Amino acid sequence: HTDSLARFTEELGGIRVLSAPEQLRRKSRDFFWYSPILNEQLEGRTADLVVVPQTEDEVVTIARAAARHGLPVTVRGGGTGNYGQCVPLAGGVVLDMTAMNRILSIRDGVAEVQAGVLLHALQQEAEKVGQQLRMFPSTLRAATVGGFIAGGSAGVGSVRNGVLKDPGNVLSVQVVTLEETPRVLELQGEDVQKVHHAYGTNGIITRVTLALQAAVHWYHSIATFGSYADATRFCHGICGTDIDLFLLTAVESGFTPYYKHLAEYFPPGSHAVFAMVGEDSRERYRAQARAFGGQETLCLPEAELHARRLPPAYECAYNHTTLQALKADKSWTYLQFEHPHPFDLDLCTRFKQRFGDEVLCHDEFLRATPTEYGAYGLPLVRFTTAARQYEIMDFLEASGCLIFDPHVYTIEDGGMKTIDQNQLAFKRLADPAGLMNPGKMKAWEAQRAPA
Ligand code: FAD
Repeated sequence: HTDSLARFTEELGGIRVLSAPEQLRRKSRDFFWYSPILNEQLEGRTADLVVVPQTEDEVVTIARAAARHGLPVTVRGGGTGNYGQCVPLAGGVVLDMTAMNRILSIRDGVAEVQAGVLLHALQQEAEKVGQQLRMFPSTLRAATVGGFIAGGSAGVGSVRNGVLKDPGNVLSVQVVTLEETPRVLELQGEDVQKVHHAYGTNGIITRVTLALQAAVHWYHSIATFGSYADATRFCHGICGTDIDLFLLTAVESGFTPYYKHLAEYFPPGSHAVFAMVGEDSRERYRAQARAFGGQETLCLPEAELHARRLPPAYECAYNHTTLQALKADKSWTYLQFEHPHPFDLDLCTRFKQRFGDEVLCHDEFLRATPTEYGAYGLPLVRFTTAARQYEIMDFLEASGCLIFDPHVYTIEDGGMKTIDQNQLAFKRLADPAGLMNPGKMKAWEAQRAPA
């Protein structure tokens, strides 16, 4: 890319550029190392240049220059994705969005922001006016709004508000196309799906309008149970009741070595449910935990946890759970799947019977459809070989689960399975030369491959 890069750089004017080898390396990585398979494939893939726009005009200038000189562009938010989504497979330019971090407006139930705003910063501002995010990844502190929409899917809050793609969560996005004359397009309502979870392969999201919810005072709770089956039966039993929940996470006792700082509340031998419970639901939640054979061991608001140097419940959930274990023991990796509908209460027991200590159960409960609750499994798995990972996935698939393979970097293989024709059509329009995050949308690569 040497000549093209030189000409590209000349057209950038005063736009901030990073080119030191260590900066390039750092801005070309995400959390793909959770998977030893991805780690082998992606380690060392590095951008030639990082650009850091501060305004929408600067994004347009970068898009124009990249299109003119045929340079690959990989957009990057906080870089917290798990599947190498923002790793520039073909080198070129990494477009770091984190300086596009203005909150444009927050009014009743709606926030309009630039895409590089950190979710945590938006949450803080929203709370000042009695509002809150409807959902966020457990990487709240490091992830951006644009990265969550382009790379994420669900998270903390999903037990109350469903998944990100459900109507009413993301209201609109503004997208800059990668063309010699870039266009600024507005996608509203259902059209947002054209770029949601498209890994930044079909346009640069510059602005987002998100729905907010009226703020609730959440209490972070730990309840323990004598068996994992009791813990999940409890979670399943309280979904859809009048107990106001924002998070509901079950982990088996095998996780206790990784939660030593919480040993007083999650002691060895017990199985835990981490939850965020509305202030007015605390008594009912506690009573239900008892009714299902458990006991609540901790229930505090976030500020109080912070004062006691205890983590919030959401940092004991989703892929933070995986992270706790990986910090202590690098031989773990993980899988992701959606439990069958209706929920199969015995699946976890059969899973453990079949694979024993090779796996540790971890499940996230959520509102799967407007009327139905379900769960995502994020079990830890001891890594031996790639073939063994797929044997375990086969077992889950044969048990009725939908696999979201965390060991692949393309959109389709990661769980979408089928080609999203809307996303592909939007790519033809927004990135006609196929310069955006090359290699990540299989459908695009397939149509370009020689017959
Ligand atoms: P990045 O990682 O920087 O980017 C993600 C993808 O979006 C990339 O393909 C990138 O090219 C694209 N992109 C970024 N910004 C833009 C933009 N402005 N325009 C177009 N494309 C863009 N995910 C969940 O969904 N739920 C969870 O609960 C969750 N928990 C996690 C916990 C841990 C510990 C870790 C490591 C990851 C977790 N993730 C989770 C994955 C990830 O953190 C989230 O999806 C997060 O929202 C990604 O945001 P980001 O700003 O870091 O995006």
